[in-house]
Amino acid sequence: MTTLTTAPAPAPVAAPAPVAAPAPVAAPAPVAAPVHDVAPVLPVVGADTLVPLVDGRQVPYANLDVAASAPALEAVADRVTRVLPLYASVHRGAGYLSQVSTALYETARRTIGAFVGARDDDLTIVTRNTTDSLNLLAGCVPADPVTGEPGRVLVLDIEHHANLLPWQRVTDATVVTGGPSVAATLAEIEGELAAGVADGRPYALLALTGASNVTGEALPVADVVAAAHGAGARVVLDGAQLVPHRRFSLADTGVDYVAFSGHKTYAPFGAGALVGRRDWLDVGTPYLAGGGAVRRVRTTRTEWHEGPARHEAGSPNVVGAVALAAACDELAALDPRVAGEHEDALRRRLVDGLGALDRVEVVHVWDDAVDPVGVVTFTVSGYDPGLVAAYLSAEHGIGVRDGRFCAHPLLGRLGFDAGAVRASVGLGTAGEEVERLVAAVRSLVDEGPQARYDVVDGLWVVVDDPRPVPAGSGLEGLLATAALGADEAFGCLPDDL
Ligand code: PMP
Repeated sequence: MTTLTTAPAPAPVAAPAPVAAPAPVAAPAPVAAPVHDVAPVLPVVGADTLVPLVDGRQVPYANLDVAASAPALEAVADRVTRVLPLYASVHRGAGYLSQVSTALYETARRTIGAFVGARDDDLTIVTRNTTDSLNLLAGCVPADPVTGEPGRVLVLDIEHHANLLPWQRVTDATVVTGGPSVAATLAEIEGELAAGVADGRPYALLALTGASNVTGEALPVADVVAAAHGAGARVVLDGAQLVPHRRFSLADTGVDYVAFSGHKTYAPFGAGALVGRRDWLDVGTPYLAGGGAVRRVRTTRTEWHEGPARHEAGSPNVVGAVALAAACDELAALDPRVAGEHEDALRRRLVDGLGALDRVEVVHVWDDAVDPVGVVTFTVSGYDPGLVAAYLSAEHGIGVRDGRFCAHPLLGRLGFDAGAVRASVGLGTAGEEVERLVAAVRSLVDEGPQARYDVVDGLWVVVDDPRPVPAGSGLEGLLATAALGADEAFGCLPDDL
């Protein structure tokens, strides 16, 4: 048998190297200086609340868990106090105060919509929170016009469960695994959107976080909107961590819907919002069936309202809506540069201060993310995240969050299935609180915890916790079962954290 061989191709002649200017050497990013002197941007209620430590001292509570729930702005609490004497039923009463309360509610709706740049034809629906808003929208995604199958929704695996589970339950959801960089992740999304079009099964909606509740990072909104709209899909932003931290506008960005929570926007009075395109919402399944959502009811047939009322059955939360509107007023009046610089200074100090400690790893999704919001997640090797959080509370009076942050797919992909610790800051955070955290973690790394800790029912607690329930607050009776930490009164569902 003859073996044919081919003559080796002549070696390519290397082109002469262009005479290049010396590559600029990237200056190392400056390490953030301590932020002891950074003052809060806006006053919040409870900023000087004292909490007990296990050694018997009392210290001001350092609330570094703002991403979970932010304290009320003082201006929000003031507005609520002024509105309460006017409180009466909304949309349901002929009495004078009912009329006033209805006007307050509808004015609040307009303020909330305007704050997120609602277009003239957008609806602003007052909900309970982001979870509620996204569940509501999930019920309104149109079915495929040809097959009648549930509409297709594309989601990234970095999402909070609130922006994952509603789509999986009600729509035809596809979860895309993000790439190692922003660019790679955008390419994944574009590829999946294009595949949907090519298969004749285009996506109706792309559901994306405006800022990750784990790392504060986000994809560039303009690129996401261009990709989605180019493939005929709409975009909903989970604005839970975005809206409290950055000026955001539906009209300016072209985003179709945004969902957010009052309790993360310095207005913890039980209201949130869904704002966006009217057409789906006007014909979608009414979110709740009940009074206020209907025009006419017969025993066999119901005519539902269009507009916000369609999805707001039951007595509206006027206090919550007024509080959220008050927060929107305050945030709108702020110079966005001042707010951004404050948060950025605190965030950079957290990243650099914690990152410089032995055994501490700061979590991020992408290397090339720009402008993350003030959320920093980390681990301390050798210490369970639950123990770190319990230690910070018991020995330093610092409140953080630990666990998997209702973002199990992301934590799993990044290799943090055992969870992590999250510190988050906002407009009411002082630099001193950030410094306390950095110092406390340093002392954990150097010396270990001073108290003894154990796991009870899946939660880390101080053994024989000596901290008393808050005394003199007048709330003692309401805290009857609160042997702090150890009792189910403060327990949550550890598996779901
Ligand atoms: N999305 C993100 C990004 C969040 O951080 C949260 C709350 N942790 C939610 C959604 C859910 O918000 P809520 O609990 O107010 O419904």
